[in-house]
Amino acid sequence: MHTNDDVTIIRCRADNYAYLMHDADSGETVLVDAPEAGPILEVLARRNWTLTHLLLTHHHDDHIEGTNALRDANPGLQVIGAAADAHRLPPLDRQVAPGDVIETAVGDFAVFDAPGHTVGHIAFHLPARAALFSGDSLMVHGCGRLFEGTAQQMFDTIARFMRLPGDTRICSGHDYAAANLAFAATCAPDAAALDARRAELPLLADKGHPTVGVTLAEDIRLNPYMRAHLPEVKAAVDMDGAPDLAVFAEIRRRKDAF
Ligand SMILES: [Zn+2]
Repeated sequence: MHTNDDVTIIRCRADNYAYLMHDADSGETVLVDAPEAGPILEVLARRNWTLTHLLLTHHHDDHIEGTNALRDANPGLQVIGAAADAHRLPPLDRQVAPGDVIETAVGDFAVFDAPGHTVGHIAFHLPARAALFSGDSLMVHGCGRLFEGTAQQMFDTIARFMRLPGDTRICSGHDYAAANLAFAATCAPDAAALDARRAELPLLADKGHPTVGVTLAEDIRLNPYMRAHLPEVKAAVDMDGAPDLAVFAEIRRRKDAF
């Protein structure tokens, strides 16, 4: 567990992250994704918080498995997920669609369409705490694997996120920063940003600190999927002058084989 100002980042399973937020006045407590119940229940008990809202990004087991145990331990918990994926998510108390807003005492979460990794994947933007909960779509220094969706869908998903304020923190579903950075180094990243992050990541690991929470403005210097439009990135993958989407798709293919 690590508290990054106003978002508590809980490490789960091998390399998952869940995100917990609390409003002291109302007592409302919001969790994004439930990879497993144990570590989340532990934090809730230690702080004497009751979980009131669980927001699910997508249907994969390592994002929903803790749902039933959290519901049992927190009567009144509202489980919220995509209407489009309701058939393969745990039972939902509220179904949402892209463009909806989930109002909580922690702040209003804007629901974003975020297909690519899966179809039906959604993301949550919380302007009040400058956070984007992107699940397995946009990751720190990378993006999720294309299991169900297309490169075009992931390209559009990331383009939507890039229009958010630059100080928005990327709160993604996994700790893949080191592997993503190793691959990003092959795609003409900003040299100074690469050096700085290479120096920082082992220190974070030593202290058990999370690797997420990098801002969009910081990651645009490193993340190849946010940089497919740049001439130096096209040159790095031998695609000078190619369309941005084709370069994006090639970068995703190369990462799969990396
Ligand atoms: Zn997933």
